[in-house]
Amino acid sequence: KCKIQNNNNATRFEKSLDKEIQEYFWIKNDLLKLGLKEELYLDYQPIYSIDTNRLVGVEALIRWNHGEKGIIPPARFIPIAEKIGMIHPIGEWVLLKACSQNKEWQELGYDPIYISVNVSVLQLEKPDFTKRIKKILEKSMLKPQYLQLEITETFFTQNYELIQDTIKELGKLGIKIAIDDFGTGYSSLGQLCELNINNIKIDRMFIDGVDGNINKSKIVKGIISLAESLNITLTAEGVEREEELKFLNTNRCTFVQGYLFSKPVEAYKIEELLKRNGKNKICLC
Ligand code: C2E
Ligand code: MG
Ligand code: MG
Ligand code: MG
Repeated sequence: KCKIQNNNNATRFEKSLDKEIQEYFWIKNDLLKLGLKEELYLDYQPIYSIDTNRLVGVEALIRWNHGEKGIIPPARFIPIAEKIGMIHPIGEWVLLKACSQNKEWQELGYDPIYISVNVSVLQLEKPDFTKRIKKILEKSMLKPQYLQLEITETFFTQNYELIQDTIKELGKLGIKIAIDDFGTGYSSLGQLCELNINNIKIDRMFIDGVDGNINKSKIVKGIISLAESLNITLTAEGVEREEELKFLNTNRCTFVQGYLFSKPVEAYKIEELLKRNGKNKICLC
């Protein structure tokens, strides 16, 4: 009996592995075929200042509208794009698109906001990354202070030496640097200081239920006071409930982002928010 059960488990395991491998291969093939651009697009998620109730920035989030399979989220194809080197053309496309979009909003006369773009560690590791960023800023005519690059905290474990110079160079250009998914990796106080980070994005797992969980609230308070002492602004990711926002307001978190305010949306919806920016209260606090 036991043996049969084991066999069943093994078969189930093989089947799911099979599925994963198949998925890997079709995503890989279709990424390589991707006449870039046509099937890729960006959504934008609003980032608000708690203090001023204003929209201060948006995060650009890539989507792939696959002809047959529908919309594929980044978590499914970015890791594969990284493996096969497609992250470079894709990443470059994202940066140019995002910067140009932000410039377009400014040209329409709205108060300027910053655009926050996720970059892969593999992009940062390319020796000419800073040069490419400069080119993108020139092409889009966006001023560097309106671009923020989000780097996931995991980079601190790989090639730290190489990447730290690039980050410093980018900082000197006037670009903002944010640490994404903060709390899930291994950065140290010293490193944060050394790199002149501008913004820390607290990972959603700490924000989820922070108002009712002693441990989470201690961690978040700790991160906030750390950031304050280093003169770094803070963004809470994944704010979904009013109570979480109240907690973040009471504890002096700077910026907030999450489904409570808006899901990632298309560019024209951001324009609607820009039109009435500052006129609506984002919260009850
Ligand atoms: P991330 O940079 O941490 O982005 C935040 C993710 O959380 C987004 O998922 C966003 O839709 C989701 N989110 C925002 N607010 C909430 C909330 O209140 N609740 C919940 N449950 N989720 C929320 P998305 O768009 O699926 O992106 C997933 C990840 O894919 C991103 O995580 C980022 O690491 C990566 N990614 C997205 N776009 C790009 C890109 O252009 N380049 C690179 N290299 N990575 C990207
Ligand atoms: Mg991000
Ligand atoms: Mg990210
Ligand atoms: Mg994040």
